[in-house]
Order: sequence, then C-alpha cells, then structure tokens
Amino acid sequence: MILKNIDSKDEELNNLRSELKNAVSKKQEMFLKSKLNKIEFGYKNEKQNAYVLDSYLGNNKNLIVLHDLRLQVEDKYIQIDHLLISRVDITILESKSFSEEVFINEDGTLKVGKKAYASPLEQSKRQLHGLKSILNNAGLLENKIGKDIVLESVVLFSSNTMILNDKLPENYFRVDTYLKLREKEVDTMTFMKFVNLISGVKKLESIMNLAEFIKSKHIPRKINIENKIKKDKIIEQEVKKCDTKECSRCKEGHMVLRERKNKNYTDKYTNNKFYGCSRYPKCRNIEEILVES
Ligand SMILES: [Zn+2]
Repeated sequence: MILKNIDSKDEELNNLRSELKNAVSKKQEMFLKSKLNKIEFGYKNEKQNAYVLDSYLGNNKNLIVLHDLRLQVEDKYIQIDHLLISRVDITILESKSFSEEVFINEDGTLKVGKKAYASPLEQSKRQLHGLKSILNNAGLLENKIGKDIVLESVVLFSSNTMILNDKLPENYFRVDTYLKLREKEVDTMTFMKFVNLISGVKKLESIMNLAEFIKSKHIPRKINIENKIKKDKIIEQEVKKCDTKECSRCKEGHMVLRERKNKNYTDKYTNNKFYGCSRYPKCRNIEEILVES
C-alpha cells in the first residue's frame, strides 16, 4: 500500500518560471534555465519511478511504500526517494534514471556517457544511517520492531536506462527485476504469516505504526519566497549604505560590493556577496553581509 506520495513540485517550478521571465541578465537567465530543466527532469523521473513502484506494490497490504521523504537528522536533512517497509525489512530505494549509457564500476561509482558519478549506493547508505538514528532515538528499533529487522539500501535503475554491465553489482537492480523479486517474496511472507514459523516477522500493525511515525517526521521542502525577497531587500539596502563607506582598515579606500567567485562558499555566509576595500589587493579588508536565513 502507498502511505505517502511524492510532494508536488509545481509551486517551485512555477516560481522558477516566473523568475525566469523576470530575469535581469543573460547570466541569470541561463542559471535559472538550467535549474528549471534539472528540477523538471528530476521531477518527471521521480514520478515515473513512483508510478512503476505503485503499480507493482500499491495493492499489496503486506508492503508499505513511502515516496519522497525529507527527514531531519540533527542539523542536516536526508532525502529518501522511496522507502519500502515489510514485515522483515526496511529498504531505502534510490532511483536513478539516465538518458545515456551507464556502467557501474566495482566500487559502486557510475560512468554515465563520459561523466563520472559518485556511488548512489554510498549516498543511500548515508541516508540509511540517518534513518536508523531517527528510529533508534525514538526507541523504535529495539523495542517495538526488534533488532532482527533488516535495514538495507538498494539502487534501482529505471527501465529505460541502458546499463552496460553483464551482471549488476550487489544492491544494484533494474527496477522491474527488483519489484518482481519483492512481489514473490511478499507472497512467501503471506504464506509464512499463516504458518507463523519465523519469529522475525513483525505484525502488520507494528510496521504500520513505524511507517506512520516515519511519515510524521517528513518535513516538506518549502520555498520561502517571502524570505528570499527579504534577503534581497536587505542586501540592496546594505549596498546603498556601504557604497560610500570608508574602509575601516586603511581609511583610504571605500567598501565596494563584490561577488564570491567560488560557488562553494560555506553556510557561514548566507549569500555570495560581500564588501571589499576598493584598494584591493593593497588592502584586503572585507566585510560580510549578514542575512539571517
Ligand atoms: Zn582598505
């Protein structure tokens, strides 16, 4: 059964589209266009993959499916494409879709066309680690579910992705193959329910509680437009204020607005703009623009 569907990204996409319409420079336009394409492509794939999962497992009462989860672990968020909960295991499904040919290297990294990609399995394992700690903190792993429930990560490739490997490495599957396997397994599980042979098999009720708990922890991604406008305004005001401001260090130059070239500026800086002395490189005085996020 499907307990949670994919969150709609329509609002986010519409916002980007209107931002694109109002773009003030070619550079901004290009940036927004590529961002829009990326999200559109991802959203389309996500929906397709969810559709495939739903059509295989949607009617199965012994298997709970949650799509598109965003969970907070300490000060970070983990994003889970799909989560499968059965009576014996919890599986994170990381779904991948590529228009180019894919080769999966031995270490799990991918070669897609000419590009190299990090291991999606490793990424998924980090999510699994986060999920484990959420369940552990809530006391759900030891008490109600028991230690015997298996937590696992699996990478699924969409059926239209061309994979060059003869044999797929462990925990990598084509989506159809995987779902057929799971379907079969669940049939066996239903049988076992009657025979009641395996102690590790959880009651449907307790896995439902677990699934509901995870669902309740989902934090939807909010595009906070108001916040963004506020941020832009503060920066604008700061710009006006500082354009004539004398440099506090050399007292000769004045502070001018500059943009960080390195896109990987840390979270410490809430934006990529800062003030630098007009006499740079003679004077390296800088001032951050602090905007609370
Ligand atoms: Zn200076």
